Amino acid sequence: MENANKLQIVYPDEENGASHPHCPHGPTLLFQTSNQLADKPKSAYYACAAHRDKRMCSFQLLAEELTPQKLSRRYELESHIKSCKEQREKLLAVHDDAGLHYCLHCNIPLLRDEHRKHTGHEMVWNLTAELLCDPTRFLRPLDDDKSQAQYFFDDKALKFFAKCFQDLVVNKVVCMGAPRLHAFLRNNYAEIQSFLLDFDHRMFFFYDDDNFAWYNMCNNHFFDTKQHLNFEKFLKCKSKDNLLIFTDPPFGCRTEPIAGTLRQLTCTFNKLNKLPHQPLPIFWIFPYFSEHYIQQEMPHMRMCDYKVNYTNHSAYTDVGEKSRKLGSPVRVFTNVPLELLHLPVEEEYKYCALCQRYTALENRHCARCSNCPSKNGSTYRHCELCGLCVKPNYKHCTNCRRCTQTEEHECQMYQANQHCWICLQKGHTEWMCVEWQKHRKDVVKRSDKIITCLLCKRKGHNERNCTRRSKYLEELTFMGVTTVIFK
Ligand code: SAH
Ligand code: ZN
Ligand code: ZN
Ligand code: ZN
Ligand code: ZN
Repeated sequence: MENANKLQIVYPDEENGASHPHCPHGPTLLFQTSNQLADKPKSAYYACAAHRDKRMCSFQLLAEELTPQKLSRRYELESHIKSCKEQREKLLAVHDDAGLHYCLHCNIPLLRDEHRKHTGHEMVWNLTAELLCDPTRFLRPLDDDKSQAQYFFDDKALKFFAKCFQDLVVNKVVCMGAPRLHAFLRNNYAEIQSFLLDFDHRMFFFYDDDNFAWYNMCNNHFFDTKQHLNFEKFLKCKSKDNLLIFTDPPFGCRTEPIAGTLRQLTCTFNKLNKLPHQPLPIFWIFPYFSEHYIQQEMPHMRMCDYKVNYTNHSAYTDVGEKSRKLGSPVRVFTNVPLELLHLPVEEEYKYCALCQRYTALENRHCARCSNCPSKNGSTYRHCELCGLCVKPNYKHCTNCRRCTQTEEHECQMYQANQHCWICLQKGHTEWMCVEWQKHRKDVVKRSDKIITCLLCKRKGHNERNCTRRSKYLEELTFMGVTTVIFK
C-alpha cells in the first residue's frame, strides 16, 4: 500500500487540544510512519518544525517518551529579542546617511567607529536611506540550511504581484516569508499595507513591531508577544478592506505544515472579524512539480502559468547561462479564480479565449482536452493513446499505457509509481487494476491507434477524464484521501 511507510506529519493545533512539545522554534511537528499491519503508528517522534537539519535544531523526542513536564517546557528568547530590538533603536537614532555601516559577517548594524572591532569582515559602508528601505538589496541571502534558503524576486515578478493586488483591489498583504515583496509594497504602494512574517531575525533591525513579526510559518508560532498582538490588529479589517496572504516558502518545506498554517491564519482572521468561515485569498509560490502536494492539502488551489524569477538563483531566472531552457519552474498557486489574473503580454503570456484566462505563450490550447495543458514551460502535444496531452519529448509505452521519458524506462518500476486512472491508487496502471478486474462485465479490445476508456468503452479519453465516470464509480474524499467504490 502506498501509505504504509510514508512519513506523515501531524500539525500542532493547540487551540483544539492537540498540543505538541516545544523546541526553541515553537511547537514541534509529530512525524509518524503508519504501520499498516499493526494498524497503529510506529516510531512516532516530535521534531523541529522549521529545521530538518539536526545541526540547526537537535530537538527530537519519541512520542512514547513525552511527559507532562516535557510538554510544558518553554524556551526563553526574551534577551535575544531585546538585543535585536536595541539594534533597531540604534539604527533609528542615526539621522544622516553617513556613519551607519553593516557587518555582513556578524550580521549587525554598526555606528561610526564601532567597525574597528570588525577588521577583515565584509562590510557595507555608509548605508543609504534607499538601502535601509529594502535590506534584501544588501544582506547576504541565507543559505545555511536547506529549509532556510533565501531567494529574492526579480523586479518583473514584484511588479506582476503588485498589479495582481491592484486588480483584485487588495489593500492588505501578509508577506509570509517574502521580505523583498514587503519592502517593495511599502516603498511603492501607499494604498497597500503590508505585514512581514519571517524567520530571519535580521528583519528586526529594519522594521518596527507594527509591520514585522519574527515568526515560524511551519507552526504559526510568534516569538514576540507585542509583534503577535500587532499582527492581530493588522488582521482586523473594515468592510472595505481586502486582505491577501502571500507566501514564498523555501522549496525544501513540506506542504502539510504550510497548509496547516494557512488554515490557522484564515481561522484567526475569521474569529477576529467575527465572520462565518470565509476563505482568504492566497498566493503560494512553489515549483510546478509540487502541484500534486499542494492540491492534496488544499484541493481548491490552482496553478497560474506565470513563471517566477529570482535575482540570486542561477537556474530559476530568465537571465544568464545557467537559466533553464524552459524558464523558471516556479509558479503561483492560488485560490483566486485564474480568470482574474492578468499575465503581462510583454513577457510572453497570452489570453486564451477558449479557457478565458491568461496562459503562457508556448502553452497551446488542446481542443481534445479543452484546456491549455502545459505545466513545465514546453508545448505539450496530444497523445491519442493516453487520451491526454503530454510533454513533447515523451514516447508512448503500450505496456504501461502512458507516455514517458524513453531513457531508462523500465515498465515494472514505472508502473509502481503511477496512479491508476480507475481506482486512483498508486502502484499500478489500469489493465492491472484489481478492482476493475473484479467488476468488469465484458472484455475491452485494445486498439493501437486510440485509447478506449475501460469504464464506458468509448474511444478517445481515459478513465480519469471519463464524463460518465460517476455512473460507474463513487468517489469519497476524506482528509485529502480519495477512495473509489465501484457501483
Ligand atoms: N522571494 C521572496 C523571499 C523568499 S525566500 C522575496 O523576494 O521576498 C524564503 C523566505 O522565507 C526567507 O525570507 C526566509 O527567511 C523565510 N523563511 C524560511 N523558513 C521560514 C520559516 N520556518 N518561517 C518563516 N519564514 C521562513
Ligand atoms: Zn527547533
Ligand atoms: Zn501516450
Ligand atoms: Zn490534449
Ligand atoms: Zn512501459
